[in-house]
Amino acid sequence: MKVTVLVGGVGGARFLLGLRALLTAGTGEYAGEHEVTAVVNVGDDIWLHGLRICPDLDTCMYTLGGGIDTERGWGRAGETWVVRNELAAYGADPSWFGLGDRDTATHLVRTRMLRAGYPLSDVTAALCHRWQPGVTLLPATDDRVETHVVIDDPETGPKARKAVHFQEWWIRHKATPTPHSFPAIGAEQATVLPAARDAIAAADAVLIAPSNPVVSIGSMLEVPGVRDALRDTAAKIVGLSPIVDGRPLRGMADACLAAIGVQTSAEAVGRHFGARAVGGLLDGWLVHTGDAADVPGVEVRSVPLLMTDVDATVEMARRALDLAGG
Ligand code: GDP
Ligand code: CA
Repeated sequence: MKVTVLVGGVGGARFLLGLRALLTAGTGEYAGEHEVTAVVNVGDDIWLHGLRICPDLDTCMYTLGGGIDTERGWGRAGETWVVRNELAAYGADPSWFGLGDRDTATHLVRTRMLRAGYPLSDVTAALCHRWQPGVTLLPATDDRVETHVVIDDPETGPKARKAVHFQEWWIRHKATPTPHSFPAIGAEQATVLPAARDAIAAADAVLIAPSNPVVSIGSMLEVPGVRDALRDTAAKIVGLSPIVDGRPLRGMADACLAAIGVQTSAEAVGRHFGARAVGGLLDGWLVHTGDAADVPGVEVRSVPLLMTDVDATVEMARRALDLAGG
C-alpha cells in the first residue's frame, strides 16, 4: 500500500510516527509492505546567518530519526547553544531564532550542498541517509516559497502595513501582531516537486496530517501543481483535524485561522478545506470525539485525535486509512 501524507512540523511529524508504527508492525489488516511518502511544507524555510534552515523538514527528520527534543517538539535532543550565544555576543542579528549547535551542523551540510547546486529534495535525501526516517520525506517544492505575514507596521500602527517572514512573526513576535494575510512569496515562479506530485498521483490513500491548516497545509496548497495533484489523484483524501474542542493543541493556529476568516473549530476547518466534489481537498474528515462537524460532500467521523503517545497515534492513523478505504 502507498500512503502519501501532507505534513507541517510538530503535528505532522508526530502523526507520521503513528502511521509508520501502524504500517511497519506487519500485523493485522495492514500486514505487508507499505510505502509512506510525506510531502513537507517549506513555507517556514528561511536564510539566517548565511544558513538555509528548513524547520518542518528537520522536525520530521529528527522526530522519525529519534533525534528530536521530545519536550520542545523541535530541535535536537541534548542541544547546546554555544553558537547562538557567541552570535549574540557579536550583536549579530537576528537573535530570536533558536539556532542550536547540533542543529547548526544540519544547516551547514544543507547549505553547502545547496551552494554546490543540489536541489533541496536531494539534500533532504542525503540528510535522511543519516537519520533513516523510514518514510520518504519530500519538500513540497525545490523552489523557494516562503510564507510571509502582513501585519500593521509596529512603528506606525494601523496606518501602514508591512510583511515579515513567518518565522519573525511566529517566534520573535509570538504571533501577537494581528495578521492580515499570509502571502507565499515566490509561489508564482514555483512548481510542485515532481516526485511529490507523482506520490500523490500513485497513492492508494492520501492523508492530510493534523497540521496547521493555514501556514503548514495552506502554504503547500499555494505551490502551483499541489492542488492539481490532489484534484486528480484516484486515491481518497482524508484529513485529520488539528483543532480539538475549538482550540489548537499546540501553537497558535487560531491566530492564523482568524486572519483568513475561518473559525477555530473542526467543522470550520473542514469546510475551509472543502469537499473534492466542489473543488476542495477532502473526501473524508476526522474530528475528535465529541466534536461535531457537518461538511457538505465529505464523510465525517469522530474518533480520538489526541496524539498523547504513539499507540494513540497509531489508532488515529488506522482510522484515517479506514476512512480512505485502504
Ligand atoms: P508546526 O509546523 O511545528 O507548527 O506543526 P504542524 O503544522 O505540523 O502542526 C501544528 C498543529 O498540530 C497545531 O495546529 C496543533 O493543533 C496540531 N496538533 C498538535 N498536537 C495534536 C494532537 O495531539 N492532536 C491533533 N488533532 N492535533 C494536534
Ligand atoms: Ca512549521
